[in-house]
Amino acid sequence: MDLKWFRVPKDIVFGKGTLEYLSTLKGKKAILVTGGRSMKRFGFLDQAKAYLEKAGMEVTIFDGVEPNPSVETVEKGAKAMQDFEPDWIVAIGGGSALDAAKIMWAFYEYPELKFEDIIEPGSMPTLRKKAKFVAIPSTSGTASEITAFSVITDTKAHIKYPIVSYEITPDVAILDPELPAKMPPHITANTGMDVLAHAIEAWVSTTASNYTDALALRAIQLVFEHLPIAVANGEDLDAREAMHDASTLAGMAFTNASLGLVHSLAHKIGGEFGVTHGLANAILMPYIIQYNRKATDKVAELEKILGINDLAAAVKELNKKVNVPLRFKDVTEVEMDEKKFEEVLERMSKNAFDDPCTLTNPRQSSAEDVAKIYKAAFYGEDINW
Ligand code: FE
Repeated sequence: MDLKWFRVPKDIVFGKGTLEYLSTLKGKKAILVTGGRSMKRFGFLDQAKAYLEKAGMEVTIFDGVEPNPSVETVEKGAKAMQDFEPDWIVAIGGGSALDAAKIMWAFYEYPELKFEDIIEPGSMPTLRKKAKFVAIPSTSGTASEITAFSVITDTKAHIKYPIVSYEITPDVAILDPELPAKMPPHITANTGMDVLAHAIEAWVSTTASNYTDALALRAIQLVFEHLPIAVANGEDLDAREAMHDASTLAGMAFTNASLGLVHSLAHKIGGEFGVTHGLANAILMPYIIQYNRKATDKVAELEKILGINDLAAAVKELNKKVNVPLRFKDVTEVEMDEKKFEEVLERMSKNAFDDPCTLTNPRQSSAEDVAKIYKAAFYGEDINW
């Protein structure tokens, strides 16, 4: 049996002002989980609380989830849930808040569960015995609102754990473009290019299907059309809505089709230099498109559908429009020292090759190929081998 499946949340609520959907939920108690201060500062946290209270629920807030959520934060949140006993968990904010809340949920449902017990894919027990989960993203990028993934950091051991289970796919995703409208231009650009990387990698993935292709294609079209507008004018709610939809569409595609070398290489260069995830993806994408097109017809197929001649060149053009550098050498947000790059290259390439995302890349690669791709993207040299 060649069993394949496609799973996404039951409800996706989208459009301007849809935060109000919270007032229609049925339940007794809700806990809001969020990150630093931005959701509070922009008033969204208070709005969410008011809508849940309107639904007749008692509401509490767990805030302060850090950018790379730690095991300790997850345990603290789970403890707060065990004390409060909510039947709804409502995560609102960036990917980190959503990721952390997913695992708090697992530990709330199973207080005896240990972190080590859920690292193995498929080891997550059945959730939803105590609560259901709503995800409300404030960025258009990670698509945590739709995915079966969560990344939690063991800060003591300096290890990031990707947790993978369809159990932690949210029950409801609420996509209100008012939230990402507050993102500054450079974050809009980086997260938007992450969306494009999700969609293009899902499109060429060796596990792509008709289901994921349809979603990935629409996401790609939306990003090319609307990202430059969202970057130039953050308050353009139509562009924001299109990008928010694109993020979730791409998320539905990659949570089912997985990713490829762009993410493998971005993960590891991010680990070595601290370069932002979306920015690393944006820079790597044109080079890996050039590399992959030798092994798949899907790139040419995409070019035909989009009516363009050269996808790699089109992505570079988009990078220019949203002020993203075309090679790592020109990155300014962190120091990307050439000497250090040459020093870590071999180790970083081996680690990137071993990343799980490499498995579904359309071209069979090697640690040597990965090193050559890194070099091309560092110095800005086209790949035609
Ligand atoms: Fe990503």
